[in-house]
Amino acid sequence: MLSKPNILLLYTGGTIGMMKDFETGALKAFNFKKLLQKIPELKQLDCNIETISFEKPIDSSNMNPEKWELIADIIEGNYERFDGFVVLHGSDTMSYSASALSFMLENLGKPVVFTGSQLPIGDLRTDAKENLITAIQIASLQQKGKPVIHEVCLYFEYKLYRGNRTTKINAEHFNAFASPNYPPLAESGVHLKIDTHSILQKQSAKKLVVHKVMNNNVVIVKMFPGMNEAVLSSILSIPNLKGIILETYGSGNAPSEDWFIQVLKKAIKSGLHVVNVTQCSGGSVNMGQYETSTQLKKIGVISGKDITTEAAVTKLMYLLGQNVAPAVFKTIFETSLRGEMQ
Ligand code: ASP
Repeated sequence: MLSKPNILLLYTGGTIGMMKDFETGALKAFNFKKLLQKIPELKQLDCNIETISFEKPIDSSNMNPEKWELIADIIEGNYERFDGFVVLHGSDTMSYSASALSFMLENLGKPVVFTGSQLPIGDLRTDAKENLITAIQIASLQQKGKPVIHEVCLYFEYKLYRGNRTTKINAEHFNAFASPNYPPLAESGVHLKIDTHSILQKQSAKKLVVHKVMNNNVVIVKMFPGMNEAVLSSILSIPNLKGIILETYGSGNAPSEDWFIQVLKKAIKSGLHVVNVTQCSGGSVNMGQYETSTQLKKIGVISGKDITTEAAVTKLMYLLGQNVAPAVFKTIFETSLRGEMQ
């Protein structure tokens, strides 16, 4: 008989484990052990669950690269002992963290499932229980004693997504996430249906490699009609800036005015990496489709294709942290590393 899968549940914080502060009425993170006592159902699951918590659980608005490193460290340190990992995380920056971890964990051979909730677990109408229980079940899925999922994903409101394809789309609805350019990996109804064509296949028996250096000398700039030269130039001359995610219009379009192209051209010449992503919620950048993006292509702007802003900015931090040589940076960025782009 096969033994039960071992699951590590990591609590980083977020609404799922929050309670109202008596004095202010604001939600804040509280003790993780108390959180677990509220879910006796966990004992009925067909897996062994161990738990670990951030010493000081956070609201995910306080997430940062040091804390991503901590999550990566915990997974690395427990990788051999566990068959799957569930990361409880606030929904606000969950897509950024799931994207970051997807890059940091190379050759991942086990599931890492991020989840959280819109209402605290103690709330009568909470969405936390379903999210947590199904996330654990997904992390426990095995076929012939091997994990079915080998990637960083995000489970929320009956859907499992590839983490680096997600974005938070709603601050109130239980259905808070979308994956506009990639189908869900699984849907949970009466049955848990895994889309075997969409999940990443395990390529080889390569060993997990954990990359912990993220370079955050980057910026996201969202285009808007009326952006002026002084504003853009001063952003691009931030000391030590290494890369910029430019959120453009539609399929990657931006003003064709000379000053705009010249400012970007100068920045690229000086070694800055400029990545073009669309500010539309779905679809892809296609530089050259319109005249307003032809110049961008010519001056060496990197195409983010159909990547989300969350995955783009974390991929940029990751590649900069790897010290990827300037000559190949564009090619590597434009290549899908963890299924984050087409
Ligand atoms: N502010 C919370 C957080 O991201 C919201 C949530 O957990 O859903 O930590």
